[in-house]
Amino acid sequence: LSDKKMKTFEEIESAVRSYSRGWPTIFEKAKGYKMWDTDGKEYIDFFAGAGALNYGHNDEAMQEKLIEYIKNDGILHSLDMGTNPRKEFLERFKEVILKPRDLDYKIMFPGPTGTNTVESALKIARKVTGRDSVISFTNAFHGMTIGSLSVTANSFKRHGAGVPLHHTVSMPFDDYVEDQSSIAYLEKFLEDSGSGVALPAAIILETVQGEGGMNAARLDWVKQIESICKRWDILLIIDDVQAGCGRTGTFFSFEPAGINPDIVCLSKSIGGAGLPMAITLIKPEYDQWEPGEHNGTFRGNNLAFIAATEALTNWETDDLSKAIQEKASILSDAIKGWVKNYPALKGEARGRGLMQGIAIEGEGIADEICAEAFNRGLIVETSGPNDEVVKFLPPLIIDNDGLKKGLQILEDSIKQ
Ligand code: PMP
Repeated sequence: LSDKKMKTFEEIESAVRSYSRGWPTIFEKAKGYKMWDTDGKEYIDFFAGAGALNYGHNDEAMQEKLIEYIKNDGILHSLDMGTNPRKEFLERFKEVILKPRDLDYKIMFPGPTGTNTVESALKIARKVTGRDSVISFTNAFHGMTIGSLSVTANSFKRHGAGVPLHHTVSMPFDDYVEDQSSIAYLEKFLEDSGSGVALPAAIILETVQGEGGMNAARLDWVKQIESICKRWDILLIIDDVQAGCGRTGTFFSFEPAGINPDIVCLSKSIGGAGLPMAITLIKPEYDQWEPGEHNGTFRGNNLAFIAATEALTNWETDDLSKAIQEKASILSDAIKGWVKNYPALKGEARGRGLMQGIAIEGEGIADEICAEAFNRGLIVETSGPNDEVVKFLPPLIIDNDGLKKGLQILEDSIKQ
């Protein structure tokens, strides 16, 4: 690090330990899939704001709309008040996303972040069913507030806060034990009320677990989970905070499984330009909130509505979906190649769409590869219970050239 940067970090540190250990620089500018730091060094972004920047940094159409709105003294914050950006977002979301997919949901603004949508989903499921417990899955990640943390199956993140709460239980995710049907286990568990949990209000599921290590559930397994929910009258909540908004190739990650969840949680890229926004989609019959029963100050961010509405134009045709699928196969071919060509990694390919990773054996190796990639100009992060998975979340709009360049940097880092 340059003396100047080190000094800046020291100044920041004296206020609070807040600087990034993973990416020890100060970032200044970003466009599309590229970022630049204060030294002018260029980076390819395979992190995309932890999945909040599916449409890349500073999309020009979003920028123009936002600047115009601010210049015209538009209302920035308005809670539940009616505004044009809010109205337009609701209309466009129904028109572009729900209608063509034959989906019927009430759209709720639960608060600005992913954990807010999960909390609202858990609350409404408990209210509607009159039941307490919730089933989630091994290695699930649903957020950092007490309710969402309770269904997050990560002991490091939970234990300090004294969770899980006694009403939550984690069941084996698809393929958790190789060649063992976790569906049969779940069914037996529900039949056998003596096993420790009463009939749950809801099952909450990520079809691809991001923080949990890029574990993609098989589509027929997802379908079977839906059947179990129907049979037992349990609400199915799909947490699409990370896997949604096109990340896996379709707007909702569950589309290829052909399911119709009772509740869907969206955040991260729903705000288009990286602006904080979350929505909870609730089947009309389950929208049983009393007025004011779930509220929060920052639900009416009109800048987020504007960027979110603009982002929806990406879904008016199949073009983005097709492009994601093409890039997803470039990514998976590269990962499979590393697994084969570098046996010392004992690598395993994970994930679906532009949400993939490579699990690597050996403590700290994945982190070392990411650190080397950073030196070489690629921003990439790890996930998984032991940070053993190098996780690829490039912006969906990355071109093939940028994707291949980033993958080359990663390969050079592996070699190193
Ligand atoms: N659910 C999932 C699947 C997530 O990946 C995340 C964030 N990584 C959350 C919920 C929580 O979102 P937030 O950090 O915005 O609260």
